[in-house]
This record gives sequence, structure tokens and C-alpha cells, in this order.
Amino acid sequence: TNNKKMSLTAKVLLGMCLGVVTGFIFRTLLSDVTFIQEYIVQGALNVGGEIFIASLKMLVVPLIFVSLVCGTSSLKDLATLGRLGGKTLAFYLVTTAIAITLALVMGSVFQPGAGVDLTSATTFSAEEAPTLGQVIVGMFPTNPINSMAEGNTLQIIVFAVLFGIAISLAGKPGERIAALFSDFNEVIMKLVSLLMNIAPYGVFCLMAQLFSELGLDAIVNLLEYFLVLAGTLLLHGLVTYSIMFRVFTGLNPLIFLKKMEDAIMFAFSTASSNATIPVTMETTTRRMGVDNKVAAFTVPLGATINMDGTAIMQGVATAFIAQAFNIDLSFNDYMMVILTATLASVGTAGVPGVGIIMLAMVLNQVGLPVEGIALIIGVDRLLDMIRTAVNITGDSVVTCIVGKSEGAMDVARFNDPNAGKQEE
Ligand code: ASP
Repeated sequence: TNNKKMSLTAKVLLGMCLGVVTGFIFRTLLSDVTFIQEYIVQGALNVGGEIFIASLKMLVVPLIFVSLVCGTSSLKDLATLGRLGGKTLAFYLVTTAIAITLALVMGSVFQPGAGVDLTSATTFSAEEAPTLGQVIVGMFPTNPINSMAEGNTLQIIVFAVLFGIAISLAGKPGERIAALFSDFNEVIMKLVSLLMNIAPYGVFCLMAQLFSELGLDAIVNLLEYFLVLAGTLLLHGLVTYSIMFRVFTGLNPLIFLKKMEDAIMFAFSTASSNATIPVTMETTTRRMGVDNKVAAFTVPLGATINMDGTAIMQGVATAFIAQAFNIDLSFNDYMMVILTATLASVGTAGVPGVGIIMLAMVLNQVGLPVEGIALIIGVDRLLDMIRTAVNITGDSVVTCIVGKSEGAMDVARFNDPNAGKQEE
């Protein structure tokens, strides 16, 4: 075969498809074979999938820290840093607000919750949504080592930015440290490329295990919810982003979407924006030509605070639950949903399933029954995968927009279809 010439992307896609098919066969034809269920699904596939996720997560903390120190220490002055931060935050907030609004509109137009049967009431308790003050204070580390040990992205970002600024101000010693970090950065990016080679197998394991356990009958019962949500996610991911990309960078959004392929597949199979950070970084820098000094800041920040897909889920799910319980939401309630969902997303890391925890906060805030979550949790995993792909696409759009506007994007590299493509 021509296996040698197959790109990594094609291999990951193949792993994904084979995984889905295998999982499906295990679930439908071989569900009674104890050996397969116990040793293959719970055993081998589980081990393979966990190792793959661990290898991605392992990269996240060192990658964020090193690349961000590198990026910040190469900034010319503090004004640049302020401008970069301001623009990034503004775009992240605006895209999230557009996302929730779109979701609320779609939820009221298509009424996915009208006439839903409420028999499955389980209890579910909600945590309080954090206040803006808490979110901001929580960004400042008391012990940076602790922040890294816990993988607290926002705290790592704050420490790395300050450290980078100090490097740029520290004269000769600063220059030596900067050179060291720049070498570290190269080595870590190499490690990312190395570990990417296990991705096809990891993705296969994750997909096969998931689909051998995924109850598709739950989706049939909630088909309307599923379709409205998935449709809104696609609409936002393809249309809103393409328009924004075109308007703010002047570049071709189709090239952008094509180059997102690896990152989207990783996000889809891991359902974690955080675990996908290494791939999103690699995609935006090596394949799209955004300078590391921008991407190192915007990508990890986005994985934590910018979750458009998750916001869309909050909107559609809130509308769905309100309709199912026959509760009318006022304009104020809608505003509250937007505010709470945005705040909750700022304070929560992009890991699988957190969207549901945030939803509990949102429902609580507008006085909707939190038990409503029981209605939708059965179909959440697949939707989590789709919304995570949207989440990281949003981070990448903003990364390109900010990079381009700062003159920190290599347009020739962006337009070159083969740039940064991994071949084995
Ligand atoms: N899994 C999503 C992410 O990592 C968050 C969510 O549950 O919506 O981006």
C-alpha cells in the first residue's frame, strides 16, 4: 500500500472512521461476547485511549508556560502586550455573546422542548456561578508551582506573562534566559510532533470504546434537541466564523477551515479543548503562520475562557428545558443566561463534560429546574465532541484575526496548502 505517503491527518481520519465502525460492530453484533466487552472494550481500547489523552495533557502545562514566556519576552513593549490582550479579550467576548444569542434564537424558533415527556426526573444539584470578582482574583497565583501542578491555565498564563515581561526588562541575563526558553520551545514543539504520531491509534481506541458504549436510542428520543443544537453549532462554526474571518483578516476562510482539520479531529475525539491545545498551537503557528508571540497567548487563553460551542449548548439547552417544563423566560432571564453562561465559561477549563456543570449554574440563576439536565445528559457526549470542535475553531479564528491585525501572521505560509503539514 501507499502507507508511507499517507499524511498524519489522513491516518487520524482513518483511525477515527475505523474506530466508529469497530465500536458499532462491538455494540450491535458482539454485545453478548464477554471477552470483547471485558478485555477489548474495557481493557485494550481503554488503555490505548487513556495513554493518548495522557500524552496530550502531559504537554499542555510545559507548552503553555514555555511558549508564552518565549512569546512575551519577545514583545517590544508593554503597550503591545496591552493591545494584544485587549483585542483578544474583546473578540472572545463578542464571539461568545454572538454564539449564545444565536442559540437562544434558534431555541425559540425551533422549540425543541415543546411537548417533551418529563418522566425522567432525577435530582441534580448546581454549584453557584462564580462572581466576576472571584473569577478575576482566581487568575492570580499565590504559588506558581502549585498552579502548574493543578494545571490552572489562567494562573499559568498570568505568571508566564509577568515572567516574560521581566525577562525582556532584565538586560543581559534576560537575553540569556530568553535564548534558553526559545530552545526549550523548539524542543517541546518537537515533542508535540513526536507524540502526534500515536494519534491515529489513540483516536481509534477512543472512538471504538465510545461507540461501543454510546446509546444511540437516547438520541432518537431527543432528536429535535440534538438536531437544533448540532445545527446551531454547525451554523456558528461554518458561517459566523467564515464571515468574521473574511471580514477581519481579508483571507480565505475555506483555507482556514481546511487547515483546522487536525485540530478539529483531536477536539472531536478527546472532547477537551485543553488536551487539544498542543494541536491548536501547532495548527495556528506552523500551518497558518501566526507568530508564536500571539498564538502562545491566545490559544491557551481561548481554551479556558472562550467556549462558543459550550455557550451555544447553554442557550439551546436552557430554551429546551424551559419549554419542556412550560416556563416562560423573560427578557431579563435571557440576559441572565447570557451573562451567567459567559462568566461560567471564563472560570472553567475546557475538559469533557464541563458544559453540563455550567448549565446547572445557568439554570439555577434563572430559576429553572436543574433536574432538567437529566433529560439531556444521555445525549451529551456526542454533542460535547461537536461543541469542543467549535470551541477550538473559535480560538483559532480569533488567533488569526489578532495575529493578522498585529502584523504577526505570515500570509504566504497561510496560503501554502502544504505548510507545516506532518508527513511520516
Ligand atoms: N468539552 C468542552 C471543551 O473542552 C467543554 C464542554 O463541556 O462544553 O471545550
